[in-house]
Amino acid sequence: MDFSSDEYYMRKAMAEAAAAAERGEVPVGAVAVLDRTIIAKAGNMVEQLKDATAHAEMLAITQAANSIGDWRLDRVTLYVTKEPCAMCAGAMVNSHLKKVVFAVPDAKYGACGSALNICDIPGALWRVETASGVLQNECLEQLQAFFKTVRTRKKNGFLPENN
Ligand SMILES: [Zn+2]
Repeated sequence: MDFSSDEYYMRKAMAEAAAAAERGEVPVGAVAVLDRTIIAKAGNMVEQLKDATAHAEMLAITQAANSIGDWRLDRVTLYVTKEPCAMCAGAMVNSHLKKVVFAVPDAKYGACGSALNICDIPGALWRVETASGVLQNECLEQLQAFFKTVRTRKKNGFLPENN
């Protein structure tokens, strides 16, 4: 595994997460990479689009498919700042994604090995390779900083944007 390049792409995903936080979204970002080229990048847009399915991974998967003109993403690696949920992991399996690399595991909702493992269902026709822990501390700090700000604003009577 070329760890330095994993970090490079995870930093790009972190930038998407930071932009999401600026919009008042939970800071999760994703980039899709094909042959070392970023073909899709997205941040969480649930609040802005008022759409519970608008997770960064879902948006990046759709963008990646549009970019290569095929729903099959079997040569694409997705970098995400937080472990994908069941919905996103399901979309990764359905799009035949080659691999997902995520930073922060999610014990509650993570569907790539933490709470459950949609990426590797025994007997499934497609399995998504998984790797985790790339820039884990930095991405965790990004998430914690966001929720700390939300709590402070709530305590002071200010709600975050779009809430
Ligand atoms: Zn999700």
